[in-house]
Amino acid sequence: MQTESSTLVARSPQVTEFLSKPRKLLIGGKWVEAKSGKTFKTLDPATGEVLAHVCEADAADIDEAVKAARAAFNGPWSKLTPSQRSRLLWKLADLLEQHTEEFAQLESLDNGKPLAVARIADVPLAVDNFRYMGGWCSKIEGNTIPLSAGNNFLAYTLREPVGVVAQIIPWNFPLLMAVWKLGPALAAGCTVVLKPAEQTPLTALRLGELFAEAGFPDGVVNIVPGFGETAGAALAAHPDVDKVAFTGSTEVGKLIVKAATGNLKKVTLELGGKSPNIVMGDADVEVAIAGAAHAIFFNHGQCCVAGSRLFVHEKLFDQVVEGVAAKAKKIRLGHGMDSGTQMGPLVSDEQLARVTDFLNSGVSEGARAAAGGARHGAQGYFVQPTVLVDVQPHMKVVREEIFGPVVTAHPFKTLDDVHIAANDTIYGLGAGIWTRDLSIAHRLAAKVKAGTVWVNCYNVFDAAMPFGGYKQSGWGREMGHNAIDLYTETKSVCIKL
Ligand code: ADP
Repeated sequence: MQTESSTLVARSPQVTEFLSKPRKLLIGGKWVEAKSGKTFKTLDPATGEVLAHVCEADAADIDEAVKAARAAFNGPWSKLTPSQRSRLLWKLADLLEQHTEEFAQLESLDNGKPLAVARIADVPLAVDNFRYMGGWCSKIEGNTIPLSAGNNFLAYTLREPVGVVAQIIPWNFPLLMAVWKLGPALAAGCTVVLKPAEQTPLTALRLGELFAEAGFPDGVVNIVPGFGETAGAALAAHPDVDKVAFTGSTEVGKLIVKAATGNLKKVTLELGGKSPNIVMGDADVEVAIAGAAHAIFFNHGQCCVAGSRLFVHEKLFDQVVEGVAAKAKKIRLGHGMDSGTQMGPLVSDEQLARVTDFLNSGVSEGARAAAGGARHGAQGYFVQPTVLVDVQPHMKVVREEIFGPVVTAHPFKTLDDVHIAANDTIYGLGAGIWTRDLSIAHRLAAKVKAGTVWVNCYNVFDAAMPFGGYKQSGWGREMGHNAIDLYTETKSVCIKL
């Protein structure tokens, strides 16, 4: 593992400056300390060193943030025209794009992901999402409806913003998850209180500075880092929040649903996954091997949609497993800011413990590691990219979401076998199919219960393509026009003429 400082990309002066001061909460357009005076540390997961100190919001700060969001919703934000909202979102996208390197570095340092990945994936996808959603502001239309109740009525629908929205996001794509949430909410005319994950608050806080620069009215976006059980829970339960949008674990998703019942706020959830990746007997083997490795190892497997159950037709099984294992062994682990790094550390010591517990449980239940299988090194939260074989459907490593670079490999015989096995999970977020047979591709795509099915590709995301889960992977779809639907109420107006 290469972690010598000489090989690390130099931090930009803006990043050094940003990390040098305690970062505050953004409430009502002002940067303020937490009422409790508390702060928490955010760490570099490659070294465990403190990157920055961050003010820690709790229920009292959440209350202020919700008040600010309500005031902005009733006040200046509601007075802007759709085209003014569009221009603000586009300006925000331009500013984010201009600061790509700074955001990519902050993301790499805070989350651990390779800088090159943050530069070409996280930041550009975030920019694109703001641009795409900015285009929607002026296209949120209702309908006119012919009524059978009589010809002397005019009925039409209006689409109105839901109101004040709480958004609670995870640490795997900290900036991108913030933008996936903020873009459609703002396009629809809502105001927001956003809680980033406690492990990775930095890019959301830096983004907070750009809202004022772009010209958004104060209080339209409020950013309140803090812990889940305190800040997150207070936000999900707040009686003056109209909707909560959450991305994270299925376990916490269920807590969010419970917390939301007090005022029956609207809920959307993007939760866990255990996505099947299916290599048919006729697949282009080399393409499928590369695709299967990418499906699980991208972002260190810390993707809700990671292709973590690899189903391979029995005639290709050994070849594909060997190929994916060989790729796993070649992956260069290191500090995200090292230009030679292909995979960084997991995000936290907690995550490291969780993933290594899964590895141990897999082996104790009879699985064998064809590659990896253990922690990597003694410093930082690195884990070896791992391929597990000899796995059975009942094993914990097969049933539960690991959220690390660990794939289980399963041979299959027929199309029917594999679609049943693929759907044998409580989750339904993503799926991959590798085949040259168009008929098989369509038949299987229709049978797999998943919100996104990729054929001969994986992890392709686009601001225009809906994303979300069947079963316990969530409620609702983000991105595309579906995301706008999630942030609007439909009002029927019926007039007797
Ligand atoms: P992970 O287990 O991978 O860290 P979580 O689902 O716990 O994922 O966290 C995702 C987000 O949910 C984070 O912002 C976290 O602070 C928040 N969170 C955790 N617990 C709660 C809770 N009880 N109520 C509201 N938000 C929570």
